[in-house]
Amino acid sequence: MSETVTTDPVARYVRGREFKLLIGGELVDALDGGASESFDPSTGELLAQVPEASAADVARAVAAAEAAQPAWRALGLRGRTACFRRFGELLTERLEELAMLDAIDSGNPIRAMRDDVRICMPYIEGWPALAAALAGQAIPASPGNLHYTSHAPYGVVGRITAFNHPLMFAVTRPLPALIVGNTVVVKPAPQTPLSTLALAELCAEAFPPGVFNIVTGGAPAGDALVTHPRVKRIAFTGSVPTGLTIQRRAAESGWVKHVSLELGGKNAMVVFPDVDVEEAVEGAIFGMNFNVCQGQSCGSNSRVLVHRRIYDEFVRRAAERVEAFVVTTSYREDADMGPLVSAQHRERVAAYVEAGVAGGASLVTGGGHPDGAPRGGWFLNPVVFADVRPEMAIAREEIFGPVMSVLPWDDYDEMLASANGVELGLTAAVWTNDLDLAHATAERLDAGYVWINDSTRHYFGTPFGGTKNSGLGREESIEELSSYLETKVVHTRLKDPATALRRMEA
Ligand code: NAD
Repeated sequence: MSETVTTDPVARYVRGREFKLLIGGELVDALDGGASESFDPSTGELLAQVPEASAADVARAVAAAEAAQPAWRALGLRGRTACFRRFGELLTERLEELAMLDAIDSGNPIRAMRDDVRICMPYIEGWPALAAALAGQAIPASPGNLHYTSHAPYGVVGRITAFNHPLMFAVTRPLPALIVGNTVVVKPAPQTPLSTLALAELCAEAFPPGVFNIVTGGAPAGDALVTHPRVKRIAFTGSVPTGLTIQRRAAESGWVKHVSLELGGKNAMVVFPDVDVEEAVEGAIFGMNFNVCQGQSCGSNSRVLVHRRIYDEFVRRAAERVEAFVVTTSYREDADMGPLVSAQHRERVAAYVEAGVAGGASLVTGGGHPDGAPRGGWFLNPVVFADVRPEMAIAREEIFGPVMSVLPWDDYDEMLASANGVELGLTAAVWTNDLDLAHATAERLDAGYVWINDSTRHYFGTPFGGTKNSGLGREESIEELSSYLETKVVHTRLKDPATALRRMEA
């Protein structure tokens, strides 16, 4: 259970620790001794050396997964559910350690990372329940015959994840593939490998050898997984450019593959003038995920389109809210926000802030290094931009950081054109007390997931995913489960009963 750590958590959970890959149930080093470094975003200091998997390690992991898959499938839903249950128990026992590793390695605030571990539980319990509801169909496709469908797992699934929720993605994203009888090779993001490598110890205990494999590394390891001939199903969470590369590389491998993509967002929150402004601001701040991952979330409402009548008040209140955040070392209990994940990413986000100012947007608050935060860390004070115009880069491109652009609107159709006028379509939010208006607007917003008077929350069972360049496929739902299965039709020609009886008598 959770305990409050007051001593140095880096010394306690990271220093002197060995991190290993998980291949075939064994905790191992990379074959060629390959290693890379993981850094503490709060200080910029080196945290640990971690194994860097080569293509040969990925091939080992795929071979182990392939060897384990028939027995895992044969275990049946009940047997697989028992492993899930054990996995959940171990996660609960090691909640504090895993949450701290995420906070230390990613820069996300510790309080949110404890929630990230807790969020895994409904998925661990939910996937077996949904899998029990999977069914085939008997289809009346022709008279007098029997046509039915059955479903089979792909075999080995490759699961590649992003840096912003390291542990939560490493736990929850492979589960739907596993519960329907696939085995997995998981590759986390290279910026944040520590919690996933610690998770390897739990997976080794909860699952039969080879069912859950973990390889760390960057693009070369990911590419080896994507192009491996025995991995037909690839599921990816990350950026649009990498998603496009994966589609191309999957095709170039010469093997037909099923690729699903959860990519970026530049998500609009539309605010009508009838709202309680304070409540709507709260929704926008919450929806920006400032206090979860410094806004580094695909689902963040980074474009807030606010009706002119309440615009000034909205901007003022939003600025006051973010100015009150404690921005500091992510593993301090009082951290509301930590640093960005890497020096490079901080530079990228800061460049957007500069471009916004140069382009004529009003920087209401934020930018710069927070007072009191360690100098070597990759911190950025949370930003609220006002007077943003739809054509500006800060209104069109995913920044993936603590930058919220607030755009005024007067005309409904122009507002809608602006909301839909970007290449991404992951989420959107509508805030109004007028139910007709809310639903009519939700219908017109081009996004895969729309909240009305809410933001950012995921509800297990509801399909999550994007339109346009935000992705392909839907997750967290029965649709995702089905995506890890291939459909087979069995057709039986039924003889005429009279003919069958005559034969019997002959
Ligand atoms: P990224 O695309 O840089 O990396 C994601 C993963 O892909 C990492 O594990 C990386 O090592 C791997 N990778 C990189 N090149 C590869 C290649 N050629 N072949 C195979 N794998 C490769 O993304 P990121 O910076 O880690 O994450 C940020 C992005 O992720 C943002 O765009 C964000 O919106 C998106 N994201 C989307 C969702 C969602 O559910 N839609 C959730 C979280 C993050």
